[in-house]
Amino acid sequence: MTDRNSSGIQAYPSREVHLGALEIARALPIRRRRMVGPWCFFDRFGPVSFGEERPMDVPPHPHIGLQTVTWLLEGEVRHDDSLGYEAVVRPGGVNVMTAGRGIAHAERTPVENSGRLSGVQLWAALPDADRETDPGFESLAETPAVVQAGGIIRVFSGTLAGATSPARHYSAILGADVTVHPGAALSFDLQPEYEHALFLLEGDCAFEHQPVEAGMLVDLGRDRTSASFTSRGGGRVLLIGGPPFPEEILMWWNFVARTREEIAGARANWESHRHFGEVMAYPGPRLEAPDLGRLAPPNPVS
Ligand code: MN
Repeated sequence: MTDRNSSGIQAYPSREVHLGALEIARALPIRRRRMVGPWCFFDRFGPVSFGEERPMDVPPHPHIGLQTVTWLLEGEVRHDDSLGYEAVVRPGGVNVMTAGRGIAHAERTPVENSGRLSGVQLWAALPDADRETDPGFESLAETPAVVQAGGIIRVFSGTLAGATSPARHYSAILGADVTVHPGAALSFDLQPEYEHALFLLEGDCAFEHQPVEAGMLVDLGRDRTSASFTSRGGGRVLLIGGPPFPEEILMWWNFVARTREEIAGARANWESHRHFGEVMAYPGPRLEAPDLGRLAPPNPVS
């Protein structure tokens, strides 16, 4: 499964993690694949049905050096941050938070909810030139969709099939949700200078006639000029990509940095209530940073 086959495709299993009561498949980073373009983190959560309890409740925590992108298939997630932004993201829309030099946020299932939750959260590393930018937040209620006979392509980051997301990013990037109708085929052009990867979101889907296995990050590599999909019963895949990230990043907890000193500094700032601000809209205590002793060596260049 981990050997690149003749079509240049390599699949890596995601890791199962828990975020409170929520079961998550973590597709990035994994040991053998740290990044896909600028994307350095990719969690798939749900689908889950729930009643009175609320499956997502992540107390205030800090970020530096990245953007978070929240994309839902079902349900809703409420975002609150230390700049005072409050926004509920729903299917078809996208929340993009730019941490820049520092922000804190909380994410939770809102009181008014549909009883369903299914989605992804991705992080994009900021290039060195933009790492110290002002923090910011953008909530788009709608993203562009391209409707073809065989399915629908929704673009939440970057450009694909002639559609461009208005979400602001700091380097070339692609994030799209591709729906293939039952018994249908769908194809579109890719940027050959990008590396790309797929993750099955729902149903069944084949890429160039090879089934996309559930729970796997399917690495398509570089130099592809097109992508073609088919589905028997209907399916949905997430497609991510971008030019190979040219910088070595260091990722620890919710921080993307370059050096251990930066990580230690960001952690110390959070622990002493400096720099990041407080998430005033969240009613409970915030998350404490883990012990620095678990700081791993820098990630390899992707
Ligand atoms: Mn976060």
